[in-house]
Amino acid sequence: ILYNQVQDLKGTIRVYCRVRPFLPGQSNQHSTVDYIGENGNIMIANPLKQGKEARRVFSFNKVYGTNVTQEKIYIDTQPLIRSVLDGFNVCIFAYGQTGSGKTYTMSGPDLMTEDTWGVNYRALNDLFQISNARLDVMKYEVGVQMIEIYNEQVRDLLVSDGSNRRYPFKQQNIRNNSQLSGLNVPDASWVPVTCTQDVLSLMRIGQKNRAIGATALNERSSRSHSVLTIHVLGRDLVSGSILRGCLHLVDLAGSERVDKSEAVGDRLKEAQHINKSLSALGDVISALAQKSAHIPYRNSKLTQLLQDSLGGQAKTLMFVHINPEVDALGETISTLKFAERVA
Ligand code: ADP
Ligand code: MG
Repeated sequence: ILYNQVQDLKGTIRVYCRVRPFLPGQSNQHSTVDYIGENGNIMIANPLKQGKEARRVFSFNKVYGTNVTQEKIYIDTQPLIRSVLDGFNVCIFAYGQTGSGKTYTMSGPDLMTEDTWGVNYRALNDLFQISNARLDVMKYEVGVQMIEIYNEQVRDLLVSDGSNRRYPFKQQNIRNNSQLSGLNVPDASWVPVTCTQDVLSLMRIGQKNRAIGATALNERSSRSHSVLTIHVLGRDLVSGSILRGCLHLVDLAGSERVDKSEAVGDRLKEAQHINKSLSALGDVISALAQKSAHIPYRNSKLTQLLQDSLGGQAKTLMFVHINPEVDALGETISTLKFAERVA
């Protein structure tokens, strides 16, 4: 085992909490984050109310304040990423209400600026770098899938759809994916990649495909889960043995509760699907954390698709995101309660 540096972390499920900074123009606002401790504690309070009874403390593996960089976040994630090259399956989730920073953590604010790249580009860069450094003993192949789950329906984001969009890489439809561990979507396109540039081009295609159909809804990306899966196949050049690992990077739908009295029609249906799938995910992870005999994978598409990478030898990391605005306090508390249940 070469890169399994994660043994120091207890258990296979970890939760990191990240607080989004106030955005430009919001700088004078009160924050609901009262205090961040060194041991993964965060204290939440309503800054407009006096008294201790309003304060609540939550505990996680790590808590990041508003000044923490993308690089620091990646450094703390890197051991998990690297264990994929040892044949582990890893799931990394971004959870939180819309606007709390999920996409910022996973992708970053834009593709062009390397400094603010999120976990996904850094992870791929890292995997390429390490596999290149080991070329004399191991030969790794890396492939990418990208899907979206919207209203419990799965869509392949890397395939040209009705608009006949094509992408520049050799496409391989894996119908029998016994070659690969990972995502249980046998028909989703699997695209081999050899460098970060390949990945960036794919991401652009995925993002464009994701935007299709968004006209009817104001923001599709906050109403759907997106799953970027990176498969790694490694051949030991000396022994000839083969290992497989995969990494799922999941930008979840916004966790905000929708007021049932206000939402109607499509909006209500979306909200019900999102609530159902997020709570199914919470149920699976907390059943795993409690080493329960029955893990309820079948209650949502997301958990069905990720079944092989949740539990067993697999490793899970949940980033939970907090918006520090006073107006978001209710959502912040329910986000932290959700996270506490899976921690
Ligand atoms: P979500 O994906 O949860 O809806 P976003 O990632 O889109 O939220 O973040 C909402 C806004 O906040 C964006 O403008 C984003 O650039 C900004 N933002 C989020 N997290 C941070 C951060 N850690 N530092 C600076 N800006 C951030
Ligand atoms: Mg987002």
